[in-house]
Amino acid sequence: MTSYPKIVLRRGKEQSLQRLHPWVFSGAVAQMPDNIEEGDIVGVYSSEGTLIGVGDYQIGSITVRILDWGDSTIDRNFFATRLQEAYFVRKALGLIRPDNNAFRLVHGEGDFLPGLVVDVYGDTAVLQAHSPGMHFFRDIIARELVSIDGAGIKNVYYKSETTLPYKAHLDPQNDYIIGSYSTNIAIENGLKFHVDWLKGQKTGFFVDQRDNRALLEHYSRGKKVLNMFCYTGGFSVYAMRGEATLVHSVDSSAKAISLTDENVNLNFPDDSRHTSFAEDAFKYLGNIDKDSYDLIILDPPAFAKHRSALKNALIGYRKLNAKAFEKIAHGGILFTFSCSQAVSREQFRLAVFSAAAQSRRKVRILHQLTQPADHPVNIYHPEGEYLKGLILYVE
Ligand code: SAH
Repeated sequence: MTSYPKIVLRRGKEQSLQRLHPWVFSGAVAQMPDNIEEGDIVGVYSSEGTLIGVGDYQIGSITVRILDWGDSTIDRNFFATRLQEAYFVRKALGLIRPDNNAFRLVHGEGDFLPGLVVDVYGDTAVLQAHSPGMHFFRDIIARELVSIDGAGIKNVYYKSETTLPYKAHLDPQNDYIIGSYSTNIAIENGLKFHVDWLKGQKTGFFVDQRDNRALLEHYSRGKKVLNMFCYTGGFSVYAMRGEATLVHSVDSSAKAISLTDENVNLNFPDDSRHTSFAEDAFKYLGNIDKDSYDLIILDPPAFAKHRSALKNALIGYRKLNAKAFEKIAHGGILFTFSCSQAVSREQFRLAVFSAAAQSRRKVRILHQLTQPADHPVNIYHPEGEYLKGLILYVE
């Protein structure tokens, strides 16, 4: 039997764990060990004393994230196996090719490693810990990442200053654990992108829009495209390859605009079809003429980071989309997204529906989009589904 400190649940509170949902909420705990520290590995027991699983402890509403069911040891072997499995899945998905070396290798609960995110860009892996437990295992994880056979990972950059709980006093660091700076040009579906993992948002690039960008490429020929919330210009570059006649990229951050310009130039040097604007989305959409664009992408940051912000987020999505319905040309195509985990697919659709109704235009849903397969959802943890999108035909 495991020698990890014991957390005992209140009667009946083991039910969600029996359904393999990996979180223990603070309200479910009857008994805590003394002197427990954040990030410690604990054994979780039912009120009857049966060991359910082992996981890492954290102060907060999610008290334990289960790493393995039953009697298990969380050590180097455990991480080696889970990382290897995650790699096999990406390989099976066909994401590791000479013309594609940017992908998510570990997507938290979706890869049975709650609290851990790893994105790979060529020979560099960018590791983010969202829990103290993963923070303490960072060196082991880094060493196992460079040991995955065939993956070609040489450098591991750790980037957890913004992801770890801020009260945890863990001395988070943004630094290389193994290796050092290597080329930061990643290749996605044959297109090149400068990825700034040192200063960029998240791990430096939003790999989760890969499939949706590829779909956009097919809709771009002969179109005037507006890429709103462009960040690194991912959608813009695909639109250009798809033979759009004009591409405008907009982001309120000047840094994002320079990243977009850099990436457009990397793939299409001196191409006069592209112009970028550092401006607020609502202001920009308010000022343009009707019919200026026949393809608009709206990929805003998460409007609701927590449930408490849900109502305002839904109003935000409605207003933003209403502006697009008001301005998009006849026969226009709208790619609209929400990456807020707190907003359900149904709620997002309803917000877009309200916006469409306000415009009184005929709107068809062509595609319903989600996150790509390298951001898998653990079937027992539906909360892992976060990206929602619609492609709409607007008459
Ligand atoms: N579409 C991008 C990801 C977008 S991330 C991709 O495919 O990679 C969201 C972006 O929205 C960020 O770059 C942020 O700077 C920008 N942003 C946030 N608020 C904004 C606003 N009010 N107006 C315009 N851009 C905004």
